Amino acid sequence: MTNANGRIEGIALWDGDSYRGASALAWDAGRITSVDATDAETGKAEFSIIPGLVDTHVHFDGYAGAGSVDWMTWPLITPEPERSIHVLAHARRAAAAGITTLRDLSGSSVQLAAARALEAGLVPGPRLLVHGAVGMTAGHGDLFTPPHYPHRGPVADSPDECRKLVRQWARSGADGIKIFTSGGVLSIGDKVGWRNQTEQEIAATLDEAHALGMLVAAHTHTAEGVDIALKFEVDSIEHGTGIEERHWETLIERNIPVAPTLLINDAIAERRFTVSDDASEKARAVVAERDRNFVGAAAAGVRFVLGTDANGIFVAFGDQLEELRLMKQVFGWTDEHALKAGTSDAADAVRMGAHVGRLATGKGADFVVVRGRPWENIGDLNRENIVAVVARGELVAGALPA
Ligand SMILES: [Zn+2]
Repeated sequence: MTNANGRIEGIALWDGDSYRGASALAWDAGRITSVDATDAETGKAEFSIIPGLVDTHVHFDGYAGAGSVDWMTWPLITPEPERSIHVLAHARRAAAAGITTLRDLSGSSVQLAAARALEAGLVPGPRLLVHGAVGMTAGHGDLFTPPHYPHRGPVADSPDECRKLVRQWARSGADGIKIFTSGGVLSIGDKVGWRNQTEQEIAATLDEAHALGMLVAAHTHTAEGVDIALKFEVDSIEHGTGIEERHWETLIERNIPVAPTLLINDAIAERRFTVSDDASEKARAVVAERDRNFVGAAAAGVRFVLGTDANGIFVAFGDQLEELRLMKQVFGWTDEHALKAGTSDAADAVRMGAHVGRLATGKGADFVVVRGRPWENIGDLNRENIVAVVARGELVAGALPA
């Protein structure tokens, strides 16, 4: 909670859906109290205001300090309280780049602690949503831990175990659940094409999560995995590499969001960082299939929203701005479509549309002052052009124009 208040006026404002012209924005106690039209003010013509961005798919539990560490072993050998502080550092870095709501899709007590600290206003920063994973032994989620390492995250290997793990996540305060309906790229020793869990296990997870009011995000890279995700009515598709023409109708009819995670698979495929031969080979296959599948899906009207898989290593917190430019390019979108996919539509996708993603009275005071007009040119939205970021009414980066 915050008592921060403020007012900025005579500045171009894009409210998450459309351009509103020169406006005045006022906020108090972390919420927007008014958005009104005003005369344009000289001195602010080069600036504009947009809602804070929403990234629907990140991973905060990694090393955030200077220098480099082995990304896979660091979380295994570092105590949880210390890891939570690194989560805060990643979160504040994201906020400084204008991303003011982020959803972690492999959460644990590490991210939940940081989310609650931010919510309590201990440090100014973005809003974090945390999903707990429900996956099988030898599934994508399980194989981030080397096979013979004894201290492992929870797995669930029967419908009853799935139900129990969902309930445990609900008890711990998680906002939602993550499932896997195929293998993955960075997991060790599996194949992207592996089935992850039986239909009975997936059905139990979905039933229990929805009964407890939790959204379910489904990681999948295969066409079969998309079939299963749609059959059991998941709330979002993550990666979605295997989306084929036969899936378009259901995806569009149910308006299911897809997080395309373009940048990270490109980065691993092109070995912009040190990755195993196996991981880069898997990523190259994923990228080739994805590029074939996504262009048609986007043209048909499948709903893609900002979801990067940012983890501070392969994709930095702040690279979301580049992901939006890439989405515009790959999907053939207008600039405004790309900006909606990273603000209002992404907020709706994670069921936060009543609170963030748009600038309107009563919503959270989460916004970015930027040099340029990103709804006309998404390229204007880059780190150098960010003038100020406000999250929950508090300045988290830069300085508001006088
Ligand atoms: Zn992910």
